Amino acid sequence: MNVAYFTPGPSELYSSVPGHLINGLEKKIFSLSHRSKNYQAIYREAENGIRNLMGIPSSHSIVFLSSATEAMERILQGCVEKCSFHFVNGAFSERFLKISRELGNIGLETTVALGEGFKNLENFKIPKEAEIICLTQNETSTGVSIPEIEIVKLCKNNPSHLVALDVVSSAPYSTIPFEFVDCIFFSVQKCFGLPAGLGVLILSERALRKALSLKDKGISIGSYHSLISLHESGLKAENPETPNVLNIYLLSKVSKEYYETGIENIRSTIEQRAERIYSLIEESTHFEPFVKDSCFRSKTVITVLTHTKALEVREYLKQTGIEVGSGYKQFKDSQIRIANFLAPSDRDFERLLKALKRFPK
Ligand SMILES: *Cc1c(COP(=O)(O)O)cnc(C)c1O
Repeated sequence: MNVAYFTPGPSELYSSVPGHLINGLEKKIFSLSHRSKNYQAIYREAENGIRNLMGIPSSHSIVFLSSATEAMERILQGCVEKCSFHFVNGAFSERFLKISRELGNIGLETTVALGEGFKNLENFKIPKEAEIICLTQNETSTGVSIPEIEIVKLCKNNPSHLVALDVVSSAPYSTIPFEFVDCIFFSVQKCFGLPAGLGVLILSERALRKALSLKDKGISIGSYHSLISLHESGLKAENPETPNVLNIYLLSKVSKEYYETGIENIRSTIEQRAERIYSLIEESTHFEPFVKDSCFRSKTVITVLTHTKALEVREYLKQTGIEVGSGYKQFKDSQIRIANFLAPSDRDFERLLKALKRFPK
């Protein structure tokens, strides 16, 4: 049976990926030297593809690394001498905080219960000693997102702080206030529908200046990769190491196709599908949304409380050829998570709705 993956990463591959893979093999793209002109053209295409699709201003630089988790570490190494501040509401925001502490920084935090979000951020004062504010725009473990307006209010109220934004499971759907944020990152195995193993990090001039100032002070900002080495190699359309050429090639193709589809069309597809899933589970006697406050409900990762054992629901869906994500850690028995990314076809999406509606028959 052909299984459709509605899992929050790795996820269903975008429909054009098999064709691009075959094409890349036929053209022997994956044997090209990573210092050659032909490769550099692919690197630029991927970079420009992302820039055009997401409307990234020319003031921001785009670099490639191995994962989103690596991006967290590089950001903290490059932007923090002593202290970072974290908004924590789930496993990924907590991971960001933990990395900071493991690097020897003081990691300050504000934490809310799982399933809750952050609002009224115009009144939120970040301690002066924190050098960067770390936000997880879409907390994949709980299906909670922070509205763009709240991020803007927070940034306006704390203009001297750098801001890092994890958009791993919402890009390119989310709108990003680039003028206020400094380090924005995602990996490609979620909403971009590509195989895992490539992270994308977008850096403001302010973030690069900070990294340079730490480096000039003799502080280590990373060895294998640093914000500065990534940026400087990026100026030559290269990476310090031999990069994930295969994925950069696929990203160059898929980002262009997304751009041609149009970001507004992408957003409206995701919104319409999210709306249909949420209304179905709200009306169902078997399911309910985990996130109670609708203004925090993620459009790209939908967390569903199941009244029967979550495993039963997942097994049932599996029999109809649909794979959804399990609940995170302590929620394994009581939740499923449905990734609402772009790759699944309309047909598979209708199959998902139909199966959920019919459960448990
Ligand atoms: C998946 C995910 C990550 C980690 O991505 P990797 O590519 O596995 O490093 C980080 N943050 C969020 C919000 C995620 O969903």
